[in-house]
Formats: sequence, C-alpha cells, structure tokens
Amino acid sequence: MTIQKGTISVQTENIFPIIKQFLYSDQEIFLRELVSNAVDATQKLKTLHSKGEAKGDLGDVRIEILLDKDANTLTIRDKGIGMNEDEVMKYLNQVAFSSAQEFLDKYKDDASVIGHFGLGFYSAFMVADKVEVRTKSYRDKDGAVMWSCTGSPEYELEQIDKESRGTDIILYVSEDSKEYLEESRIQALLDKYCKFLPIEIQFGTKTEYEYEGEGDDKERKEIEVDNIINNPNPLWKKKPNKLKEEDYKAFYKELYPYAPDPLFWIHLNIDYPFNLTGVLYFPKLNNSLEVQKNKIQLYSNQVYVTDDVKEIVPEFLMLLHGVIDSPDIPLNVSRSYLQADSNVKKITNYITKKVADKLSSLFKKDRESYESKWNDIGVFVKYGMISEEKFYDKAVKFGLLKDTEENFYTIDEYKDKISVSQKDKHDKNIAIYSNNKEEQHSYIQSAQEYGYNVLLLDHIIDNHYMQHLEQKFTDLTFVRVDSDTVDKLVQTDEEKESVLSDKEQEKVKTLFSETLGEGVFIDLRPLSPNDHPVVITKPEFMRRMKEMQMMQGMDMGMLPDNHNVVVNTNHPLVAQKLLKMRSAEKKTDFTKYLYMLAKLNQKMLTGEEMSDFISKSIDFLKES
Ligand code: ADP
Repeated sequence: MTIQKGTISVQTENIFPIIKQFLYSDQEIFLRELVSNAVDATQKLKTLHSKGEAKGDLGDVRIEILLDKDANTLTIRDKGIGMNEDEVMKYLNQVAFSSAQEFLDKYKDDASVIGHFGLGFYSAFMVADKVEVRTKSYRDKDGAVMWSCTGSPEYELEQIDKESRGTDIILYVSEDSKEYLEESRIQALLDKYCKFLPIEIQFGTKTEYEYEGEGDDKERKEIEVDNIINNPNPLWKKKPNKLKEEDYKAFYKELYPYAPDPLFWIHLNIDYPFNLTGVLYFPKLNNSLEVQKNKIQLYSNQVYVTDDVKEIVPEFLMLLHGVIDSPDIPLNVSRSYLQADSNVKKITNYITKKVADKLSSLFKKDRESYESKWNDIGVFVKYGMISEEKFYDKAVKFGLLKDTEENFYTIDEYKDKISVSQKDKHDKNIAIYSNNKEEQHSYIQSAQEYGYNVLLLDHIIDNHYMQHLEQKFTDLTFVRVDSDTVDKLVQTDEEKESVLSDKEQEKVKTLFSETLGEGVFIDLRPLSPNDHPVVITKPEFMRRMKEMQMMQGMDMGMLPDNHNVVVNTNHPLVAQKLLKMRSAEKKTDFTKYLYMLAKLNQKMLTGEEMSDFISKSIDFLKES
C-alpha cells in the first residue's frame, strides 16, 4: 500500500495554530460545519440520483454521529457522494484550505462575524489533534482513500479498504477539548445547531417506554430506539395552506417547550427579490416589563446560524419568537456590515411590513378579539410605533388607547370622543390618563364626576408613547389625572362660582400661605362640594420629564418635585367649618390637617409628617 505524503499549501503561513486559538468561546461551531458538509454531500448524491447520474438504490442515507471514548474519537459519518483521490486533493487540500485561510485572514481579529459561518472543514482542528477522512466516491470504479493530517500543513494520503459509499470524518479529540467526548455535550450541540437539518441525523440510541396491559397489570417496557436528533421537515419550509392552527402551535412547543401558547403567528414565505422563509410568533407578553429577546433564531437553509439577530430584525420585532431562514443574508461578513447590506435592508422592511399587515388584518377582521389581546400586543405595537416610522404609518390605524373602564379606542376615535368636552383654550384635545388606578383612585373618580374620560396608560413604555403621539398629533395633549391642567379644565368648562366672597377667599388664601409656608403654590378653586377640600396637583411637564429621566437612569435630583395645592372653596369644610373657627391655633391646625389629607392621597405623607397626621386624627376622633 502506498502512503503519499505532501504539504497542503505552498504558502508560508501555517494556519493551524491560528485555527486552534480562533474563536475560543465559539469552538463548538466545528460540529455544525462538519455536519453541514455531510448534509451537502448527501443532498448532492440525492440530486445526482434523481438525474440518473448515481445508479442503484441509495439505501438509508442518514448521517451518523459516533463517539468512542476509549479511542478519543468523534466521527461524523455520511453516505453521500464521497470523494476519490483527486477530489480529496482538490477539495480538502486546495478548496477547503484556501477558503479557511481566507476566512482567517479576514476575521482572525474580528469576532463579530455572524454565526462564525464559513470556516468550514478545517474548523475540525479547533478541537482535534488529528483528523482522518475516510471516503469512497459514489462512482463504483473509484477506490476508497484516507486522508489524514495532524494539525500541520503536512498530510498523508493512502488507499484503504472501505466498502460503503460516503465519508467518515474522524476527529482525534485533543486533550483540552475532552468535553466533546461527552455524550450530553454532543447531544446539546446537535440540538442547537442541527435540529432542523434536512437529512436525518442519528446519534446513538435512546430508551423509550411502552405500556402493555390494562389497569394494575399495566407494565412498562423499555425499548431502545434510534436517537434521531433532528426534524428534517420543519414547519416553516412547508406550504402555509397545508398547515393548521395545531401545527403552528405544535411547532412553537418544539421551539420553546415551556412557553404558553402563542397569540398568533405569521408565516414568511418569499423568493423574490430575496429568498426568505420562517414563522414569527407573537408570544404572550402580558404587559410585562421584562422583555425576552434573543428568541428569534436565524437559519440559512435549515442550518442554525445564531439567535442574535439584532442587525437583521428591527429592535421592536425582537419581542417576537420564531425562526427566520434565508440564504440571502450574508453570513461571512462582519456584523457591522450587515445593517448596511441592501438585501438585509429589504428583508428588514419586508418583515416589518408583514407584521404590520398581520396586525391590521386582525384588527379589521375581529376587533373584539384584537382588543382582548391588547394587553399582550400593546407593548409591542407601541414600541414599534415609537421606533419605526414605516410601522407607525400603518399602526396609527390599529394602535389603541384603553380607558380605565376597559374601553378601547383608536387614536382618531379617541380624539373625536374628547373633542367636545376635553378641550383647552388653545383648542387642543386634552386626553386625561392615569398610570396607576389604585394610587390615583380619587382623582379618577373626581374627573369622571365631571364627565371626563380617563385613559389607563400604566406601562413603562407609555411615557414615550404619549410623547410620540403628541409630536405626531399637534392637537392632542396628554395630562395625568392628578395634573394641574385637569382641574383648570373643570373651571373653564363649568364656569363655577365660588360660594365665598372675595374677602372670605382672601382670608382662606392667607391662612393656607401662612400655615404651609413659603415655596408652596396655592390656588383657590370653586370645585364641586363633592370634591376633596384640598387637592394636590402636579405640573404635567415637570413630572413627565422627571419620570423620563428616571427611566434613563439619570440623576433624579436635578428637577424639583413640584406640586400645587388646590383649595376647594366650595367644600363645606373650607367654606364653613374652617372660616367659622375662632381660635387662631385651631384654624392653623385644621388647615394643616386638610393639607396632610391631600398629601396622603398622593402618597406624599411619610416619616414624621405621617406620625403627626395620625396623632392629630386620634385627637380629632376624641373630640368628636
Ligand atoms: P464548503 O463546505 O463551504 O465548500 P469546506 O471547507 O467545508 O467548504 O469543504 C470544502 C469541500 O470539501 C466541499 O466543498 C466538498 O467538496 C468537500 N467536502 C467536505 N466535506 C465533505 C464530505 N463529508 N463529503 C464529500 N465532500 C466533502
């Protein structure tokens, strides 16, 4: 038997040490690279067979992954086209080597290349000291050969006895990569990278249980079955019109075994001007603050690439779950190039449009069901409207506002609704909202008594959402239900008169200014006698600025916590009880008490003031 020795490349640089160090954290991709080669070789054979160029019965063409702990080897076995001697020389020594070299030249200092796609066959040397390729071509006349290489530019090539068609890639796993001899590690990698490859892949066997008999006689039987790790026909590759709701739900479970059922989904399927398939699911978000990203997986012809798709999918769409598969996303480029790539831009726009169209059709077809899902999709739609102009243009027709009574309105509908009774002097529509139904309960009640509608905008995203809408609709302003503007609305509308004379009003004002001290802004208003005697309101603008600052983690101390004290001159406790008190001390005490009550309602009462308030209440109860 002749053993032929040679040097792989005449070029000077030895790339093996670089391969070894390259991508230390992402070494595991070697398995994907080798299994994809095996898949390619098998698919090529199937194509040749279908054209009549490969004769006979192909038999079982599954790929096998074999572990041998004693021999320290991991083998990837396919029954694909195989290679003869010339092909080994050409493909492994030349094509594969120079493409690995090119890849490393480009990316050895740039770990950002997406999914680390393209290192190919030579990635085997990231984890192996020695690689043997035993291969036999599908052409009967060609003999089998073995190529081996120990991680230097020298290789050996010899004729071997191998009856079966196809290729074994045998990795002699290196001392520091022993983890790849663990069954559980390999199983996990196959699950991650090979789960939807189009050719069956077997990794050993697994135990399944079968039950025989009935009732107490029921017996559990263990049976060993082949462990097929992949689903070669994933749902996204199938025709949408052949699929039922259950199929989509079942596939979702396959992707995310522990997640609750998705709300709805979009099947992506386009082949011009780029090729893209996939399914995107709307998960149950439940108004949650904690948004899970990295739930969309990117594939290229069913080969897993990455779950970090931020360069391809607009940020708000990352809330979705599912799979995108496109061979037209350039993968062996640095991530920073991706966003500028014209195909990627088209793909991004396509996905955005599909998502907007889906939401729009759900809204139009069954508004009630759409509204019932708003708690889950609202965050998503708002996020999209804020961040993507193209999405906003469509979503402005199906983005909703919800009031405290769970009624839903589109923005136009809402503007119509409030256009009569909730206008300020500049003719702006004033939308009143609460961001906490519990804490602002009395304010909501009082606004409703005046016939106003109160929206519920209580998600962290809502401040941004309102601001965005205010920019888009110059005739719309949002004010929180405890804001100073709300009770001004009351006055201009109702033109209420105070039961107090000017002189009496002056007295009340002096009493409050003296008792509360300087720096507190006091405003007398003839509110309804059913309103509270004293109400604290907050300037909308300052408060919102402060909240936005807080959200961005900025120093909260920069803006003062302003508030106004509104004294209701029509309330009997002010108009009668307070004014009629004779003792100056009692008057001051009572004024202070009314103020503390208002503060309590705004959750502003703490510490010493709270203790004072409670002892004062006890005193009052004793007197009564
Ligand atoms: P790529 O797969 O991107 O072409 P690789 O470096 O992984 O690059 O492989 C180079 C070539 O080696 C392949 O194009 C193929 O011709 C050949 N090859 C690799 N693995 C196999 C295999 N398992 N069976 C047959 N040919 C293979």
